[in-house]
Amino acid sequence: MTATLIDGKAIAAQLRVRVAEAASALKTPLARAPGLAVILVGEDPASQVYVRNKAKQTREAGMESFEFKLPAESAQEAVERLIQDLNADDRVDGILLQLPLPSHLNSDAAIALIDPEKDVDGLTEVNAGRVLLGRKGLVACTPQGSVILAKSHLGDLSGKHAVVIGRSILVGKPLSMLLQAENCTVTMAHSRTKDLPDICRQADILCAAVGRPEMIHGDWIKPGATVIDVGINRVDGEGGKSRLVGDVAFDEAVEVAGAITPVPGGVGPMTIACLLRNTVLAAARRHGLDDPSV
Ligand code: NDP
Repeated sequence: MTATLIDGKAIAAQLRVRVAEAASALKTPLARAPGLAVILVGEDPASQVYVRNKAKQTREAGMESFEFKLPAESAQEAVERLIQDLNADDRVDGILLQLPLPSHLNSDAAIALIDPEKDVDGLTEVNAGRVLLGRKGLVACTPQGSVILAKSHLGDLSGKHAVVIGRSILVGKPLSMLLQAENCTVTMAHSRTKDLPDICRQADILCAAVGRPEMIHGDWIKPGATVIDVGINRVDGEGGKSRLVGDVAFDEAVEVAGAITPVPGGVGPMTIACLLRNTVLAAARRHGLDDPSV
């Protein structure tokens, strides 16, 4: 069997088109474009690339991008003051604090200050709690994108057995909740799980969010299963160049799975597209408008 590739790049591009239409439609009731503020503390090269991409795609979707770059040695109070200013700024509909912060800063305390209605990363306790309770909120972008990709291939997920490997606050936990909300039967696996390969072989939908390069082998996958590979790992490639791989051994998995997301080009592009989606949702909700159909 050769698995169908779930093209995250193309699906993210379609989502960005819908976001751009929604952003354009919001300009009249808001009397301005929806706005996303991104805070970067320090000079971490990967974070700088992410922030640049987010700002570019925000502008391309017809939204206002506000970028704030603070020096690596910034005090906690400076970060918190900026978040509070952005909470109060009516032009800003979404606030994203680029993680990780430099080690002397307390990211939990900073995230806790973000107005939940502007929390487009879905990381505040309020939005995490809404996901748990099945209430409307702003859903963390990577899990949201992962579910959109699974549905793009399978349609209705009801009754499917989903195995999620990884239980982080950022990915594994919310992804498990979202799949349960789609009426999947969900097994959450983690580093203490026994017989992980056997558990994975039971999955109709196998989601890997571990951060270990190519850990999941082809013989861990049920023939025909849908594989969502969230992992992004940089490994040594040919000629001393590094390359990105997922948590799933792609060349093996593609022979067994029914469908699989590639790395790169799978879940990654969906994360930014869902961030833009959350920004137009936040803009509409903050102004008492119906959710745009994005
Ligand atoms: P974390 O390190 O926070 O969590 C990793 C999880 O994997 C933990 O729950 C851990 O279990 C579990 N784990 C570790 N080793 C094993 C093992 N041997 N067997 C089973 N489970 C294991 O990572 P994140 O959730 O933040 O990220 C996961 C991956 O997703 C990374 O590769 C990251 O780069 C990628 N990512 C991709 C994004 C995208 O846009 N595509 C966005 C965010 C992340 P335990 O809890 O027991 O320690």
